[in-house]
Amino acid sequence: MISGNVLHEVRRILRSFPVASCLLDREPRYIAANQRYSEIFRKDLDHIIGSPMANISPPRFIQNVHRDFRIFDAGASVPDHEVELDDRKYLVSVGSIASEQTGGIIAISVALTDITRLKRVEHELEEANRSLSRALYKITEIAETDQLTGLHNRHAFEMYLMKEIARIKRTRTPVSAILIDVDLFKAYNDLYGHVQGDDCLRAVATAIRQGTRRIGDFSARYGGEEFVVILPDTDLPGAVATAQRIQEAIAACAIRHDGSPFQSLSVSIGVFCLPLMPAPLDIKSIRELILTGADRALYHAKQNGRNTIHIADMEGF
Ligand code: GH3
Ligand code: MG
Ligand code: MG
Repeated sequence: MISGNVLHEVRRILRSFPVASCLLDREPRYIAANQRYSEIFRKDLDHIIGSPMANISPPRFIQNVHRDFRIFDAGASVPDHEVELDDRKYLVSVGSIASEQTGGIIAISVALTDITRLKRVEHELEEANRSLSRALYKITEIAETDQLTGLHNRHAFEMYLMKEIARIKRTRTPVSAILIDVDLFKAYNDLYGHVQGDDCLRAVATAIRQGTRRIGDFSARYGGEEFVVILPDTDLPGAVATAQRIQEAIAACAIRHDGSPFQSLSVSIGVFCLPLMPAPLDIKSIRELILTGADRALYHAKQNGRNTIHIADMEGF
């Protein structure tokens, strides 16, 4: 028990505390409280002091106090925690008061800090953070996408290729590259106009999507009417099969092209496969090797009369 004089002094000191505070005995009954505390519970301070907690506080708070006494009895401390009351949020800090004679816990001190505004700001910050992340994701997506076809753009392709080469250098697995160039496209534009030309490029992009089946396959618009596909972990027969599927999908579109000897829109395709990564070469040199190989093959496909697939041989590398 706390003696009368001490109790009077404690109550006097607590009144001037800058945060809502109270002292509770084991019953639990209010030994002392301050004005700020009484304002939270909308009860007269004189009515609170000496009252059982049950007359002032909701049952869940009383359960918390019983739990806190048990924790202090076990020699542990109660971590700060948050509670909600009348749409406001409070941080609850609890301390223990032990008897000088027995050392047993005779009372607890409770301080309630109103953190409603802080929580609102925290919530608003989290919201702002989320929309910022969404915006950043969208910006990145736009920056890496070719707006006409929806495929990756050249910038995304270059970043991807460097990363992919670094990966296959470690795994020592094959990689294939396919370069696709629309045949006689200048003539198409001249005949049918730029807008219809753009439709063709979208059709070619769709055909590329249809032809590339594996999750890891990476397609991009390489420039103007030229497209590139990288097929990781894919050998030459796999790459040729992919090129054929793309070519067939374009043929299936049957886009009329009176300026072409084939009478319909066609593509020339160069295929290059690097069966095993030359380990001593650096990433840039391997990039050159792959793209030059595919480009040479594409050149031969054009030389061979267009609307054809040419496979690069490894001679000269
Ligand atoms: P080849 O069979 O040798 O490839 O002949 P080509 O006419 O396709 O090649 P060339 O390089 O002479 O012309 C490419 C044409 O592609 C010229 C250009 O106007 C057109 N082109 C490039 N980008 C776009 C685009 O975004 N939209 C449209 N409609 N046309 C484009
Ligand atoms: Mg062309
Ligand atoms: Mg071209």
